[in-house]
Amino acid sequence: MKKITVVGTGYVGLVTGVALAEIGHHVVCLDKDVEKVELMCSGISPIYEAGLEGYLAHHLRTERLEFTTDPAVAIDGAELVFIAVGTPELADGSADLSYLREACMTVAEYLSGPATIVIKSTVPVGTNDLIEQLINEHALYPISVVSNPEFLREGQALYDTFQAERIVIGSENKATGELLQEVYAPLARPVFHTDRRSAELIKYASNAFLATKISFINEMAALCDQLGANVDDVAWGMGMDTRIGHSFLKAGAGYGGSCFPKDTKALVQIAKEVEHDFQLMKAVIDINDFQRHRILKWMKDHYTNMRGLRIAVLGLSFKPNTDDIREAPSLKLIEALIECGADVVAYDPAAIPNAKEVLAERICYAYSVEEAIEKADGCLIMTEWNEIKETPIEVYHYLMEHAVVFDGRNCYSLEDAKRAGVMYYSVGRNYAS
Ligand code: NAD
Repeated sequence: MKKITVVGTGYVGLVTGVALAEIGHHVVCLDKDVEKVELMCSGISPIYEAGLEGYLAHHLRTERLEFTTDPAVAIDGAELVFIAVGTPELADGSADLSYLREACMTVAEYLSGPATIVIKSTVPVGTNDLIEQLINEHALYPISVVSNPEFLREGQALYDTFQAERIVIGSENKATGELLQEVYAPLARPVFHTDRRSAELIKYASNAFLATKISFINEMAALCDQLGANVDDVAWGMGMDTRIGHSFLKAGAGYGGSCFPKDTKALVQIAKEVEHDFQLMKAVIDINDFQRHRILKWMKDHYTNMRGLRIAVLGLSFKPNTDDIREAPSLKLIEALIECGADVVAYDPAAIPNAKEVLAERICYAYSVEEAIEKADGCLIMTEWNEIKETPIEVYHYLMEHAVVFDGRNCYSLEDAKRAGVMYYSVGRNYAS
């Protein structure tokens, strides 16, 4: 058992802290957000992630997990310090490293002995080298830095941690790499050792590749619409080839979230710094941005004037099973609908509190699918939550003023929509009846 500090308790830091406690370590989580820390100290998870709160409350009781805003309490005596602060996007698309720099300075100030610093934040290639230099310049004790990029998916973060397909450890000396492997040993997951720069790039390359698959199938969807083919069938037929696989080949309103949009743009910037024009990645980003314009165009063409129309939006989070709305395509479309004069009523099983912080009272909120679509002139589906997908399509026909559904996630079959008498627009299936 090791004393481990985790700096930053967002989606990554909190899940990491909880998982490390579960496999037997003593973990102290440090965050500068007082409100968040108070919630976590009382056993409440500040984020919606299935199962997380149970583990959190359990390990507060086992006393293997603590939360504090006091760096002295958190860092004193730590052998390993995991850093999982945000690295958001700057105006030019590059990663903002200011939170990371601040966290490193805090660690340097409060270390009470030699330590290993584990960087979980997604950072541009070479950042771990700079961090090692920065902390060693300011700390009283020698430290070494290990890159340990995170691959969890929001919505299934605990599963992805306990059943990780790989744990990537990037280190410049064997001993620190092995120390981290020992920390994770109880998870019994595959570990891949490499150098720090390669580890940093594995993270960007993985997200960029998945984003590329999404934009590829969305571009195919545009072609399907023109050629009279069905993109869901095309994707299925492609994915049956195990070299291609089914995952991330779902046409829709495009990717969002706190990772793909920023990481694809950061990779373009990383390439630019070494004078490489990453054209493929630029196209992936452009196609993704274009997806929401395609959906808005369906709506504009359908209504010609949306002023005063009641439009239900189902799903706000960037994907199902999370309350995260960062870079969610729904927000951009809602802004566009407001601009067109529509009265938007939104429903999401988990993300309404977060949406209210951004959209405030500019739209209305409903507390069920049925409440949102009742008497609506149109319905826009933006997140494929089970609750939304499992709403029988007939319900739209019965409850809406005009049963017109613009489905940005292809939740229903064309046959069912037709049978229910719903006018149904979907992505890459060339159909409106
Ligand atoms: P987040 O914004 O949810 O959480 C970051 C936390 O760090 C916040 O609670 C913030 O208060 C805290 N913080 C910031 N500066 C601090 C400081 N100096 N001291 C203490 N606490 C501080 O971020 P996240 O989504 O967990 O992402 C963290 C990193 O992991 C990012 O680099 C991200 O790209 C990467 N990542 C995220 C995911 C994901 O699904 N969210 C997946 C893989 C990798």
